[in-house]
Amino acid sequence: MSMRCISKMNPKRIRGRVVLVRVDLNIEEGGEKNAYRIQAILPTILHLLRHKGKVVLLSHRGRPKSLTGIRNKELGIRNKKLSLRPFAGILSKKLGKQVSFVSHFNFEKIETQIESSRPGSVFLLENLRFLPGEEKDDSALGMRLAALGDVFVNDAFAVSHRANASVHAIIKYIPSYAGLLLEKEVQNLDRVAKNYTHPFAIIFGGAKISDKMAVIQHFRNKADYFLIGGGPANTFFAAQGLPIGDSLVDVKSIAFAKRYLKSRKIILPVDAERQDRKILDVGPKTVGQFGAIIKNSKTIIWNGPMGFFEMKGFEKGTRSVWKAVLRNKKATVVAGGGELLISFAKLVPSEYKRVVAGTKKNTNSNLFLSTGGGAMLEYLSGKKLPGIEVLRR
Ligand code: ADP
Ligand code: MG
Repeated sequence: MSMRCISKMNPKRIRGRVVLVRVDLNIEEGGEKNAYRIQAILPTILHLLRHKGKVVLLSHRGRPKSLTGIRNKELGIRNKKLSLRPFAGILSKKLGKQVSFVSHFNFEKIETQIESSRPGSVFLLENLRFLPGEEKDDSALGMRLAALGDVFVNDAFAVSHRANASVHAIIKYIPSYAGLLLEKEVQNLDRVAKNYTHPFAIIFGGAKISDKMAVIQHFRNKADYFLIGGGPANTFFAAQGLPIGDSLVDVKSIAFAKRYLKSRKIILPVDAERQDRKILDVGPKTVGQFGAIIKNSKTIIWNGPMGFFEMKGFEKGTRSVWKAVLRNKKATVVAGGGELLISFAKLVPSEYKRVVAGTKKNTNSNLFLSTGGGAMLEYLSGKKLPGIEVLRR
């Protein structure tokens, strides 16, 4: 089923129109400037500007509710650290165009501001999760947001598994389309999930295994190998009854892991790097075994780093897997997840820059970096994502 996409929309319908674009600026403090998520949303914004639309960017950042901030009936929750303000400057630079930050939620005032602006103007609204209706998928908020524009574009794949007002409720009140990034995400994920070729390897690391279980289940007859590192490997070790000391483990998922212990597709580490009773990375023999499987694969899906790569000495597993994946130029690869992409930028910076810039020298043109972690896993496990379903014809 195809989606309604702005790539197929007549550009004349953009001219002079107010286009609301849901983007994903959910980026942690400190990571703003080099975030892949920012790079990824530029094509849609530039497309709309080229066709002389007025662009209004909508996003959330973090979880304001879980923090102590000033709560106010009208203004919602305020927390300076989670403000989207820094992105106005960053986007201005990247777009070569002023981005006006709107710090209030006085919708009438916003409407006037947009109305009196010139075609080709860009606005960025404040963190929508400051409003209580956003995460409740509140229809009233969806309607208020929709009233600001003529067209809505969802370009926030990473949030599309959430039924939030600016992703889901809004669509009832305004003609809606998928942005260029969302379209690319879905195309690439469909490529590995539906049109995969063998050998097909799925690599899982990271912290939790619970969000990866559904994917293992979904692909248990389709994929050939599940290469398991990180927290998920520890959970499998615990399921085998091996002593894992104080290692990161997902206790609730041990029962699930037990059911897969006999599967010959599940490839667990054979050695590990440890510190203070903790398994913090896969070992060199494991890297060799994983590397051999990656080398021969035609389809690869990867989520979650192999170890605690943020700490010096425990990044080798993740770096080696990145190198093996990048060396395999025949394979169609989708790699996604917040920390996994951070590990790419940190551990193989030259390749990362090439891939992100999309230059011809790109080692592996079949490598797609997904901006979604949770959303990618849900999509891959065959679930229907609320923000995407509503755009299907
Ligand atoms: P992603 O963001 O790529 O989807 P997750 O959010 O599931 O991945 O987990 C990423 C985190 O998992 C990283 O910060 C990494 O340090 C941590 N991690 C991976 N392996 C281990 C390990 N063996 N012990 C502790 N932390 C680990
Ligand atoms: Mg993460």
